[in-house]
Amino acid sequence: MLVYTIKELCRTCYTCVRECPAKAIRIVGGQAEVIEDRCIACGNCTKVCSQGAKVFLKTNDKVERLLDSDREVAAIVAPSFPAEFQEAPTHKHLVGMVRALGFNYVSEVSFGADLIAAKYRELLAKTPGGTYISSDCPSIVNFIRFYHPHLAPNLVPLVSPMVAMMKVVRSMYGEDTPVVFIGPCVAKKSESNTLDAAITFLELREMFEGRGITADNIEPSEFDPPLGGKGAIFPVTRGLLQTAGISDDAITGNIIAAEGRIDFQEAIKEYEAGMISQHLELLCCEGCIMGPGLSRKGKPYNRRVLVSKYAQSKMEDFDLRQWEKDIERFSGLDFYIKHLPDDHRRLMPSKDDLKEVLESMGKFTDKDHLDCGACGYETCMEHAGAIKHGLAEVEMCLPYIIEKLHKSVEDLALSNKKLTTMQQALKQSEKLAHMGQLSAGIAHELNNPLGVVIMYSNLLLEEEGTSDQLKEDLKLIVEQAGRCKKIVAGLLNFARKSQVNHQSINMREFIEQGLDSLILPENVNVVINDHTTNPNLMVDTEQMTQVVTNIIKNAYEAMPDGGDITITIEDSFGDVSFVIADTGSGIRQEDLSKVFEPFFTTKPIGLGTGLGLATTYGIVKMHKGQITVESNCDPEKGPTGTSFKIILPRRRE
Ligand code: ADP
Ligand code: MG
Repeated sequence: MLVYTIKELCRTCYTCVRECPAKAIRIVGGQAEVIEDRCIACGNCTKVCSQGAKVFLKTNDKVERLLDSDREVAAIVAPSFPAEFQEAPTHKHLVGMVRALGFNYVSEVSFGADLIAAKYRELLAKTPGGTYISSDCPSIVNFIRFYHPHLAPNLVPLVSPMVAMMKVVRSMYGEDTPVVFIGPCVAKKSESNTLDAAITFLELREMFEGRGITADNIEPSEFDPPLGGKGAIFPVTRGLLQTAGISDDAITGNIIAAEGRIDFQEAIKEYEAGMISQHLELLCCEGCIMGPGLSRKGKPYNRRVLVSKYAQSKMEDFDLRQWEKDIERFSGLDFYIKHLPDDHRRLMPSKDDLKEVLESMGKFTDKDHLDCGACGYETCMEHAGAIKHGLAEVEMCLPYIIEKLHKSVEDLALSNKKLTTMQQALKQSEKLAHMGQLSAGIAHELNNPLGVVIMYSNLLLEEEGTSDQLKEDLKLIVEQAGRCKKIVAGLLNFARKSQVNHQSINMREFIEQGLDSLILPENVNVVINDHTTNPNLMVDTEQMTQVVTNIIKNAYEAMPDGGDITITIEDSFGDVSFVIADTGSGIRQEDLSKVFEPFFTTKPIGLGTGLGLATTYGIVKMHKGQITVESNCDPEKGPTGTSFKIILPRRRE
């Protein structure tokens, strides 16, 4: 694999996904990963990754081994070198540095470019009607073969200047001479299987540094012949055309030059659609001078000037006769190559499949397709297709994620609120449970002595000779002790210490009967709303009557000037509930948590015992039900009143 990810450094910004012309990067588990068989090795991702997480394979160790062997090794240097090695005063210094590494021959690829340019010219002259796509950029060649395979026959059937130069060098020094290409390009590493190694200028720099070679400690020397001519200008835009002397004049020209990942793709699309019928000169990078094998910070126009300057200086003492002789000598070599299609396209998923994926990203109509490009794909459709192919993830959709985030924040706030309410309710029921324990203890202790008091009082009452006055007093004792027994019974109910005798009832009828047994004030109006489908359930009728009457009593006691009591009965599969709401004075917020406590009352002595709701609470709990209260006592906040809701589970009969 020529390009890969250093996983620890990847921050999943999707820049590489966006920038990859081949869509050869997939996101797995939140990390970008290069898909080897889709990659065209343009190295664009290594240039755009700000984290340095995308890197290309270094092969300088292979070159070191060749140099350490006793074979004679040839270097062929790409003509973009002036753009990188600005510190070398002249090209001769760089040549000297390369020789110092141990290379026996150092040639320039620009001569190969000259040769191929001449062949280009011949070819175009031979086929006046045909249109060609240049084949000097190996990433472009791969891109066409993989993703526009039917255009492969339109690729110029000629090897690249690099391969041409390799052939020249081998024809001079022997066919088994190891040849190392040094240039700006990553794709060159896999372009030819007869080349021994291809390294980038960056790797060459590392080798210089490793061996302490600088422009100052070497002997400058000229490239080995044959020397290149105009081919030196080839790495900048429209280079090979200039080299070939073919017109790309805006009016007469029949050539379209496009470079960089956006423009070259656009040119191919239009060419494919038959909208343009010119030759295409395509480069994957913004000219070879901006290739991934050069240092990161270089500026394109500055680099262009440096390459042009070098080409100019070459022209100054250019030996045209010798050059023509060289071209003549090597033009008989075989530079033909047939670029074969190698279809790597994926079938677009079915409409239904795409729809399913789009909906999982919250995109239901065309309007939801923002096509914002944040995911790395141009359209939501393309993104959906990539998800279906396992190349992308739903989480790459920024608008979807933002919406999801908003929703989670809301959900969180809601559950937070619920939690707080639950916590309060829990605290409340814990407190009541403690009180229940205490009151059960007291009630139990009081019950026996009270029984004794009542029994002996009755005995005395029945004894002969008891004076009338004493009888009156004894009756009072029995009566008051009886009251005490009632309170104790209420406490026992609150403490849930009584037996529950379940009987089947119809809730509506039951409430109606409860109302009948009460003498309601004239000015209180009662309405029953029955929404149940099945109002039947099992309760202890005696205890449940207490519940209903206690709450209704409280309700009309809170409405001394009259008002409405509304009773609403509802049911579900598992339970029956009823709400008793009044339009009375309401309960103060700070009292709400206390109303179920035994002996809590706001009523004057003699009127309230504060046991009504405590008993009610205990009974509901004994039925494994729930009781809640809502109230408003502030007329400014709306109509005042209180409502108690009781939910009772149905028991299986
Ligand atoms: P009591 O009725 O003997 O005071 P309860 O346990 O029945 O005791 O009620 C406790 C307190 O709760 C009452 O004193 C009253 O302050 C308040 N309360 C209960 N129900 C209502 C209601 N419907 N409207 C206003 N306040 C109520
Ligand atoms: Mg009461």
